[in-house]
Amino acid sequence: MTRAPGPLPTPPPSPLQEVRDERFARHGVRLLLKRDDLLHPELIGNKWRKLMPNVRAARAAGHRALLTFGGAYSGHLRATAAAGRITGLATIGVVRGDELAGRPLNPSLARCAADGMRLHFVSRAAYRLREDPAHLAALRARFGDPYLVPEGGSNALAVHGCTELGRELREAADPPDVAAVAVGTGGTLAGLAAGLGPGRRALGVPVLKGAGLAGRVRALQEEAFGGPRGDWRLDERFHHGGYARVPPVLREFATDFAGRHGLPGIEVIYVAKLLYALTALAGEGAFAPGTTLAAVITGVPGPETVMNPIHPTTERT
Ligand SMILES: *Cc1c(COP(=O)(O)O)cnc(C)c1O
Repeated sequence: MTRAPGPLPTPPPSPLQEVRDERFARHGVRLLLKRDDLLHPELIGNKWRKLMPNVRAARAAGHRALLTFGGAYSGHLRATAAAGRITGLATIGVVRGDELAGRPLNPSLARCAADGMRLHFVSRAAYRLREDPAHLAALRARFGDPYLVPEGGSNALAVHGCTELGRELREAADPPDVAAVAVGTGGTLAGLAAGLGPGRRALGVPVLKGAGLAGRVRALQEEAFGGPRGDWRLDERFHHGGYARVPPVLREFATDFAGRHGLPGIEVIYVAKLLYALTALAGEGAFAPGTTLAAVITGVPGPETVMNPIHPTTERT
């Protein structure tokens, strides 16, 4: 693994593309796709925006490694491993489920390991202590004082990183009235809403069921900015059964949407649920005629085995 110090690359704003979709057009709504999936080839979309400020902070404080937490199929673990490889920081992943330690790695964890992540399997009981200060101090001591990133990657710096997403939309040649994003932990929405500025709204579509996410978004904005920012709301009707649940109707929707708009595919865990929700909302007349709506495309379709475990062992990231 290379340990390049030096400045971190800053990608240019991701493209904002209009697509013509009859299901929106007939209600007077213009649909734009904010292609955060094209932001960086290896560290996709909001994962780049959330992790890079943490990498900068880790380096500035002299840490040589990042340590974070996730389940066996965590996209956040994969993103952290990739961020470490790209930026020359070592990475340690604390993985829920010590029964996994003796087994072959699933494709998601194999990807982490290939990117140089050291995997530390812990029991569910130990994993539950992931926010306990004494436990975190013990992990720090054990792994040589790594920089800690919370499960799911949403902390104040991550939220600040995602304000860039809002700023890019606000400063676009064709700025949207409403910007919508899929919600896992809520860090991306918290930053997006703050960055959009006055007169624009953010809409979050949770991909997991009943997780108290509005409170999480508020808490993250409090942590990042000291109080609420922006005009945002959640629509919690479109989780399709919970995290990583992809019923046939959603899969068909994703295939059809990709076909209509010449896209290679749609990521199903997050992005398909967002686009499905927006299509349904447009059909309900939820957007006033004349609205310009931007959907943030936060991910790319991945191999089914990685992105959509047949036997999900976890409820979320
Ligand atoms: C992680 C992720 C999200 C959710 O981001 P949060 O900040 O956790 O809400 C959305 N879309 C994709 C593709 C992701 O990988």
